[in-house]
Amino acid sequence: MEFVDSHCHLDLEQFDPHRSSLLTLMRQRGVAKLVIPAISAGGWDRLLAVAQSDVALYPALGIHPWCAAEPMAEPLARLEQMLTAMSVQAVGEVGLDFVKGMVDRELQLQRLHPQLALAQKVDLPLILHCRKAHQPLLQLVRSYPGVRGVVHAFSGSAEEAKRWQEHGFLLGIGGGILHPNYRRLQQVVTTLPLSAFLLESDAPYQPLPSTMGISTPEVIPRIAAEIARLQHCSLAEVAEITTANAWRLFRFDH
Ligand SMILES: [Zn+2]
Repeated sequence: MEFVDSHCHLDLEQFDPHRSSLLTLMRQRGVAKLVIPAISAGGWDRLLAVAQSDVALYPALGIHPWCAAEPMAEPLARLEQMLTAMSVQAVGEVGLDFVKGMVDRELQLQRLHPQLALAQKVDLPLILHCRKAHQPLLQLVRSYPGVRGVVHAFSGSAEEAKRWQEHGFLLGIGGGILHPNYRRLQQVVTTLPLSAFLLESDAPYQPLPSTMGISTPEVIPRIAAEIARLQHCSLAEVAEITTANAWRLFRFDH
């Protein structure tokens, strides 16, 4: 049985002391591949270096909406150059975060547009961060025909899930599904076929009570088992289909 962790911030410094043991453990649990999305432009070089250190790791580059207030002109030019010159699997994570108190919405939109255009131009999938912004983000994505991708750590309604799915986007299902009080997400998972989902740890974010506050790729089989329970299917089926979904989206070369 083989899984893909489609979203894990394994490049972050806090993983430095135990990254290699984490990779060993991850393989033991059947997680064969892992996509590392970027947060800020300042972290790209470090992320690429980490991704190059192990064949199971695949980098994505982009500017997170939380970093939308940072200067942009130079990073954008660099992003285009890096996306075409290097082996990068996706543009991300990018998107909109309309939770109160976040970066100015206009600024987020301004930063997002050129990154969507870039994804379209270089034909790479998007890893989208979306909080309280499903309707405007989907509308924006629709204005860039041909772009594909995943809405990571999906937390919207069944209706929103359906709309993304109809537009050909996958939904990243994270550790939230293991929380007994996230009923809505569990409900959403029962309404769509397995072909709609990717698995993700979003490590070190999305903390789980049982892992002492920090999420790691080890959580992936537990998320898959919960999806299997909700969908009344086998764990092997969840592994097979979500892994195939990841291969299709990210076009892994090995
Ligand atoms: Zn993330």
